[in-house]
Amino acid sequence: MSESRDCAVIGAGIVGISCGLHLLEQGYRVVLYDPAPPGSMTSRGNAGGFGFTDVVPASVPGVLWKVPRWLLDPSGPLFISPTHFPGMIPWLWRFRKVSGLKQMTAAANALADILKSSMTDTRALLHRTRLNHLFVENGAVTVYRSRKSAHKDRYEWEVKQSMGVAVQVLNSLDEIREFEPALRNAQYGMYTPQWCSTPDPYGLATSLADYFCRSGGRIRQTEIASVNPSATRVDTLSTSEGEPVHADHFIIAAGVWSGKFCKQLGENVLLESERGYNTTLPKPGIRLNREVIFGEEKFVATNIGEGLRIGGAAEFAGLRAPPNYRRSDKLVEIARRYLPGLDDTGGEKWMGQRPATPDSLPVIGRSGRFGNVYYAFGHGHAGLTMAATTGKLVAQLVSAGHPGFDIEPFGIHRFNS
Ligand SMILES: Cc1cc2nc3c(=O)[nH]c(=O)nc-3n(C[C@H](O)[C@H](O)[C@H](O)COP(=O)(O)OP(=O)(O)OC[C@H]3O[C@@H](n4cnc5c(N)ncnc54)[C@H](O)[C@@H]3O)c2cc1C
Repeated sequence: MSESRDCAVIGAGIVGISCGLHLLEQGYRVVLYDPAPPGSMTSRGNAGGFGFTDVVPASVPGVLWKVPRWLLDPSGPLFISPTHFPGMIPWLWRFRKVSGLKQMTAAANALADILKSSMTDTRALLHRTRLNHLFVENGAVTVYRSRKSAHKDRYEWEVKQSMGVAVQVLNSLDEIREFEPALRNAQYGMYTPQWCSTPDPYGLATSLADYFCRSGGRIRQTEIASVNPSATRVDTLSTSEGEPVHADHFIIAAGVWSGKFCKQLGENVLLESERGYNTTLPKPGIRLNREVIFGEEKFVATNIGEGLRIGGAAEFAGLRAPPNYRRSDKLVEIARRYLPGLDDTGGEKWMGQRPATPDSLPVIGRSGRFGNVYYAFGHGHAGLTMAATTGKLVAQLVSAGHPGFDIEPFGIHRFNS
């Protein structure tokens, strides 16, 4: 290990915390900087799914044909704000470009690699930190109202199976109800045993942050305003109070807010806020055995503590638009079709901002311009899922200069082509 041992991590979401922990384990001195309490932003209210089977990027061939129908449906899974649309044309253009078969297959292979490692690394991390009770290995069930509606996603399922994802087809409501007795109005489904979940994603993030602090890491509740580069390195960060932060290595793990730092460093990135919504029902009156994914309407229901969290949606409206909680309400309304008797009394609504890249791949790797800057953001729907491996890869990069497997597909340089 080099003698340069001080690391500054921008962002204390699940990804920043994991980077911090892995760096600490490699013998570095680490400080996380975040104006918000650890794990309290996007990492707080997510669905708690470890989607190790989600190897298919959003940009599958043919998806663009589905987009107009989704956009025209006010309760559909996708919304693009007309005022935000012009600003996201480069992102959409890139999305179109990577939805070709060749690009999609390359992205799916990269996702399969990182997700395979994520399962092992998450298990190991939660074992080391004695948080095994927050990791439940019980699979997920995806349901469709009919075989015909499932047929629309058949390409995604074929790709998954070709990449080694275990899938058990459920051919009737009776077969579905052997897994999930509470479900109604679904006729076709898939059980994916490799999916895992946590009953408390916020508790997981805060427990990891506590472990980080107990192990000698520090967290400073401060906003970073800028990264200050010289010719080939970054020397300091500046806090919003103007105070300089000195370190040897700088990790940018600020989720959807990472783009501004890339801009300051002169590196191109296409990162959008893909806003998702949910409602956590404290006394839903029903209990699921595992996460249920509603394949047609693209939302999920997960047990969170004693309650049930119902959420999904992909809303592109920029970072600052106020939340539209009608989307949370709509998802509960749709869920009732499958889960009659669902009690939404006291439901708590939440909106979070997924850091989304057009190819569904995170940005992990060293800066192309500044040798002591590392990126760890852009995990979209899978930040919880990939946090452990991202932290491990960043720590390997900092300590050894190269990680355990090929991270070329995750490099920031891909946005230059
Ligand atoms: C509805 C919904 C459901 C989801 N479900 C799942 C799921 O089931 N499984 C899964 O794997 N993923 C899921 N996700 C995605 C997941 O939540 C994200 O990918 C993940 O939380 C991203 O983690 P992060 O650490 O990169 O970002 P964040 O948790 O957003 O953390 C980034 C941190 O950077 C800080 N920051 C910002 N600006 C600055 C600054 N200037 N200086 C210092 N710090 C700064 C922020 O305050 C924040 O704390 C879901 C997301 C949503 C919205």
